[in-house]
Amino acid sequence: MKVLALIEQRHGKLRSSGFEALSLAAKLAGNSADAAGVLIGSNVSGLATECAGYGADKIYVADQPELGLYNVLHYAKALEQAIKNFQPDLVIATSSPIGRDLLPRLAIRFDSELLTDLVALEVSNGKITGKKPMFAGKTIADVELVELSGKPGFVSVRPNIFAIEKPGNGTASVEKLTVDVSDNRLKTIEIRKGASEKADLTEAQIIISGGRSLGSADNFKILQSCADVIGATVGASRAAVDAGFAPHSMQVGQTGKTVNPSLYIACGISGAIQHLAGMRTSKVIVAINSDEEAPIFSIADYGIVGDIFKAIPLMEAKFKELLGHDA
Ligand code: FAD
Repeated sequence: MKVLALIEQRHGKLRSSGFEALSLAAKLAGNSADAAGVLIGSNVSGLATECAGYGADKIYVADQPELGLYNVLHYAKALEQAIKNFQPDLVIATSSPIGRDLLPRLAIRFDSELLTDLVALEVSNGKITGKKPMFAGKTIADVELVELSGKPGFVSVRPNIFAIEKPGNGTASVEKLTVDVSDNRLKTIEIRKGASEKADLTEAQIIISGGRSLGSADNFKILQSCADVIGATVGASRAAVDAGFAPHSMQVGQTGKTVNPSLYIACGISGAIQHLAGMRTSKVIVAINSDEEAPIFSIADYGIVGDIFKAIPLMEAKFKELLGHDA
């Protein structure tokens, strides 16, 4: 099976989710000749060498000044061209804002099928099947691409779920794409970076999130201080965002970001279904809440019943001690 992965980059840096997609493509393809990646942007040619060794022999590169800012019309053209050149059976992208925007358009263009937001993906006897959280993560649906009949199937996968595997130091040949960017029905004028985005929440391995109980934007500093010790990214519940304690870019949940870190520490967050929808697939969940009946404890691996204003500084001190930081 031939598999093509969209390798996302932002501001000239490859996203770890891009390596996840590429590794997954190589794994499903079974051999490096049947796996390829595609990189789109401006001044991104240099990044192609970083994609070598992940099990794909070829990287398609669309590198033009007009591709510097994401524009769905131009990016769709670039991906379409890579698909036409490589003729894959399956195209994988990350379930990111870009992946979610691009893939439906491509699926329509190829009159094909699309599975979105998968947390598992398998190819067996030519059948492409996956698992997808639904109803705010309360249930997992088994899904399948059924009628491809020679057309490429499309899937988007959640970041931080699939392993990055670099089997060797292999090289990857680069094939340049020239994209027709004359369609100017839509122009991207500017992309503004979220003020809080220290490390993107969706790619963070450790997240410390705070809820309404933090009480003020100033109090979020205790989370940031603790996060700095262990290299975590700070998130927030919607109630904290609505109260103005944190920007929307930090919101985790149904109407915020979906995250899958190795460790999620929920501080003073009740555990409403809409919050759980965005973080319940985290590998280890720690909850701190003064109410032992708080719903967050039903999905937590470890729970601390107590006051966040006491527990967080204690946790920070313990992290410093364990990591050998000066007090
Ligand atoms: P609360 O529910 O007020 O909980 C505060 C918690 O802090 C309580 O459990 C309390 O026991 C505890 N606490 C208080 N003081 C302390 C203390 N000193 N120490 C320790 N614990 C303390 N929410 C999201 O988070 N993300 C979303 O994307 C989202 N999308 C939504 C979409 C829709 C359509 C709707 C209707 C709602 C959505 N919500 C979302 C809101 C959600 O329903 C909850 O209202 C919200 O998650 C509650 O946030 P919270 O846990 O911070 O606040």
